[in-house]
Amino acid sequence: MKLSDTGKKLSQDAGILRLMDDLGQALSSGAPQAMFGGGTPAHIPEVTAAYEQSLRAIVDDPLQLAAMLGNYDTPQGYEGFIRAALHFFNDTYSWGITADNIAITPGSQSGFFMLFNLLAGQTGGIKRRIMLPLVPEYIGYVDQVVEPDGFVSIRPAIEKRGAHEFKYRVDLNRLTVDETIAALCVSRPTNPSGNVLTDEEMCLLSDRAAAAGVPLIIDNAYGLPFPGVMNVSATLPWNNNTVLSFSLSKVGLPSSRVGVFVGPPELMRALSSANAILNLASPSFGQYVVAPLLENGELQRLSERYIRPYYFERAERMRRLLHEQLPDGIPWRLHVYEGSYFFWLWCEDARKTSMDMYDYLKQRGVIVVPGEYFFPGQDTGKWPHARECLRLNFARPDAEQDAGVIVLADMMRWAYR
Ligand code: PLP
Repeated sequence: MKLSDTGKKLSQDAGILRLMDDLGQALSSGAPQAMFGGGTPAHIPEVTAAYEQSLRAIVDDPLQLAAMLGNYDTPQGYEGFIRAALHFFNDTYSWGITADNIAITPGSQSGFFMLFNLLAGQTGGIKRRIMLPLVPEYIGYVDQVVEPDGFVSIRPAIEKRGAHEFKYRVDLNRLTVDETIAALCVSRPTNPSGNVLTDEEMCLLSDRAAAAGVPLIIDNAYGLPFPGVMNVSATLPWNNNTVLSFSLSKVGLPSSRVGVFVGPPELMRALSSANAILNLASPSFGQYVVAPLLENGELQRLSERYIRPYYFERAERMRRLLHEQLPDGIPWRLHVYEGSYFFWLWCEDARKTSMDMYDYLKQRGVIVVPGEYFFPGQDTGKWPHARECLRLNFARPDAEQDAGVIVLADMMRWAYR
């Protein structure tokens, strides 16, 4: 069977495929010692109970149930959910948006695929790319632009802090937004590093994007207002040159596949049109379940009372363990944890690459994600830092954290031997 060039691109050894495979296999072939790999959000009982209650109310209402199960919504999304989201955002942030500013997609992942390909690629005589102003960036963007070499990215400035911490900063000196750039895109908080770009950095990016007449896309999957898993104060910027994305996955509904995009009307119309071509409509279930919880503020309350404290506690425990167990004499560094569900561990000058470390850990039942995959637009062969990092999902039970960190410490001694 002969695959097209696009077919080959979509079926090669994509980082996202390896990640999902490892997650699936690890879970199906008996529990590994520590599952620091994939990103399935935690099951938090109080949050699940709220969804159950909302679902029961739908089941008890024959009209709603029939509509949820039996209707295609419009390609833009379920009207009741869009209305709820609109009121919620305007009440919370006074953005003054209308329904034309909103598009719902089957998960934000597919929303990004559509958005990137609506913007990037051959445009008149010019090939335009998506610019990632700071890498490492979300593994799920890799290979999303159908045309080859769809990303250009910028190495960050690295600020070392004490013996075992560091923080990335956007290197504004390298940021040039010319006519070959179709959009700027950042995740904030950033998956994988746990970095939160500062308000000043966001302002500068927004200004540069506006000056070049291209949108600034902010992937807000872990950001405010839901789940809002970040421990630094930062505002949520929006203007008519910004596209903000939200996801129901990170509030505990990954299987519902609902992404919410807020952006300029013409781009949101294009996104809904692409959604019609690819999917006809987005899944209704999550939109129906969450609409009343957006309307009555419950989703935000659940985020504040249960989701944030859960992740902050897991992060603090894991951070403590790493500092206790990892060898002090080795120059490992953890990116400062400012948000998201991940830690980003940098093994500077290690003798092994992060792929070697991944293999070693996997052999010993500890699943992580090797850092190489998080640098779209970079030649990782030319930048040692891109081969020295691992992403860890810290939100695991005590026993897994305990067992996994011991193996990580062994791995580190091995990697620097
Ligand atoms: N963006 C970021 C930063 C993510 O971490 C994820 C999922 O892990 C997504 C987008 C996609 O999420 P979903 O398609 O489930 O909405």
